[in-house]
Amino acid sequence: MNALFFDGKLSLKQVPKPRPMAGEVLIRIIYSAICNTDLEIIKGYMGFKGILGHEFVGEVVTKSSNLYGQMVAGEINCACGRCYMCHTGRETHCPNRSVLGIQNHDGVFAEFIVLPERNLHRVPDTLSLESAVFAEPLAAAVEIFEQIHIKPSRKVFIFGAGKLGLLIAMVFRLSGCDYTLFSRSSAKVNKAQSMAINAALVSTLTDQDKAEVCIDCTGNPDGISMALSHLFPRGKLVLKTTVADPQKIDLNQLVINEFEIIGSRCGLFRPALSLLSHRLVDPLPMITKTFEFKDILKGFEFAAKPGTLKVVISH
Ligand SMILES: [Zn+2]
Ligand SMILES: [Zn+2]
Repeated sequence: MNALFFDGKLSLKQVPKPRPMAGEVLIRIIYSAICNTDLEIIKGYMGFKGILGHEFVGEVVTKSSNLYGQMVAGEINCACGRCYMCHTGRETHCPNRSVLGIQNHDGVFAEFIVLPERNLHRVPDTLSLESAVFAEPLAAAVEIFEQIHIKPSRKVFIFGAGKLGLLIAMVFRLSGCDYTLFSRSSAKVNKAQSMAINAALVSTLTDQDKAEVCIDCTGNPDGISMALSHLFPRGKLVLKTTVADPQKIDLNQLVINEFEIIGSRCGLFRPALSLLSHRLVDPLPMITKTFEFKDILKGFEFAAKPGTLKVVISH
């Protein structure tokens, strides 16, 4: 089959079709999408080599599966199910895990993938497949609500109006709290506002403007410092940025201000698919362009351009 392979450089090549092991099924990819994580991996993040990609919707083609012929989205962490982390409900932190297209597991920029059947979620009939491809990043947005309780009376600042920032803002909009999505780019602020998201330029913030919860999804190493400078004492900072560059922050201000820092990644697919199928979150305005799989290298170039939001690949 054809696949987008990364081994220090990206290339399309012929590779053997994957074969499911016990508990796994074969899935034919229908749509995939390029994520910032993919762009970071090709800069060296995670040291991954293999077939890239983890955001997808596809059809189960293993005949013996209960999901045969169904459209599915899939959780990306493949846990061992036997270790202490797995037994205590922290499968996404299983030390023996592989991660689709990120760590020891070939990804979705290919004709077929294999995943454990238990990772799969049927796409509801009411949901378009282009929307369903957002289940993974939306799950990462919903994860914040699994981690912290946010009172509707509290003020929330979200820094970074990229793909994840927009999804997070759309989830916060449902919570009823006083949220604002900030960006340095007026084009991104305009885009967010066109999606009825409360958004503003970072330059409109003064030193006195502070929130109870700040979320960094800028994707920049300096995003953390900016978010911290607008956090009330005893406020919570949620970190969503992962970059190839390691980051430096002044830990003294955490002690002095008693800030709480919460790292956040991945999330539950079921609530994400529920939000999408009930049209409480509409991600379609985030698709900047759709490429055919044979043009995926062009898709990667396009995805790295400033101003591009989601690049979807049609297989
Ligand atoms: Zn992703
Ligand atoms: Zn485990």
